[in-house]
Amino acid sequence: MKITNVTCQLIPPRWSLVRIETDEGIVGYGEPTLEGHARTAITCVRENAPLLIGQDPCRIEHLWQSLYRGSFYRGGPILCSALSGIEQALWDILGKFHGVPVYQLLGGACRDRIRMYRGVGGSTPEAAAAAALAVKEQGFDCLKTGAADAGVRLVDTPRVVDDAVERIAAMREAVGRDFDIAIDCHGRFSPAMALRFCDAVVDLAPMFVEEPILPENIDALARLTRKARVPIATGERLFTKWSFREVLEKCDLAVVQPDLSHAGGISECKKIAALAESWYAALAPHCPLGPVALAASLQVDACCPNFLVQEHTADALGRGYLKQPLVIENGHIALPTGPGLGIELDEEAIAAMPEHDWLTPQLRHADGSVADW
Ligand SMILES: [Mg+2]
Repeated sequence: MKITNVTCQLIPPRWSLVRIETDEGIVGYGEPTLEGHARTAITCVRENAPLLIGQDPCRIEHLWQSLYRGSFYRGGPILCSALSGIEQALWDILGKFHGVPVYQLLGGACRDRIRMYRGVGGSTPEAAAAAALAVKEQGFDCLKTGAADAGVRLVDTPRVVDDAVERIAAMREAVGRDFDIAIDCHGRFSPAMALRFCDAVVDLAPMFVEEPILPENIDALARLTRKARVPIATGERLFTKWSFREVLEKCDLAVVQPDLSHAGGISECKKIAALAESWYAALAPHCPLGPVALAASLQVDACCPNFLVQEHTADALGRGYLKQPLVIENGHIALPTGPGLGIELDEEAIAAMPEHDWLTPQLRHADGSVADW
């Protein structure tokens, strides 16, 4: 089998697709979405196309090595998101070629179903409690909520932390202690503010506190994780096994969150999960993206022993994009059974979709200066 064509498409609301065709008629799909830089990432996919055309799509590791190591510059969000989308499409082809879901080629299923969480918010404690209870009533046993909706100063008032703690405490009160609450800080806190926040939520027993600070300075994160008395998660802005090696070695992490569309793809995230396993850390793949990225995540979730929970958005279940949208029942998705990524795109509907120019919204402090997103 040989690769004959590589094409890309931007699809709304902010996603992108890569489509790899073969001379045997098998077509694979991947999602090289880089939020806010979707056009940049698919340009990178197109630059790589000459290295793929004519090659055997079943040599996934070899092609990954060729694209990653063979072009001098490596790593980072653009190159790795393009590579991730391509690699997902190659796995989709290989699974379709053998007539099995991808996880069957990666050691088989470690579980019977895949635990999902939903992100919820609420501008007041009452609204947050009601939103949390609604998620529980839908059958989920976990949710994730934000710690700070706006920019946080490097040192800020007690109110910033108090507001978040009041909302999360109301959620905990509503759902009880037989339910997991994860908290995403989006890297908006400085180490000083993050420690104040982590101390304030100890009694609320969060499943994990995500990106309490940015991952740019791993030593700063290492110092924080040594002091924090809550499980710490990070990884949505880290790329490849090399970045995860450093953060796992230096930081006391409870959870790693590689993104299947940013960290290097399916096999790279399986390897990252294995690195985490050796540090007794759990895997909770980041995925606020589209249905192809979610389908790729589910394949890895199925076959990693240390999988904890899968992020998703309602859009990613694929209504309007997939012939059969993904279904969540009692907070879980059943193991995929279809070949490859286990989904069938509605190609006709997708071909008719307009492009998009989605940009990440900017955050500003009260004085007009730029705040960390
Ligand atoms: Mg996050």
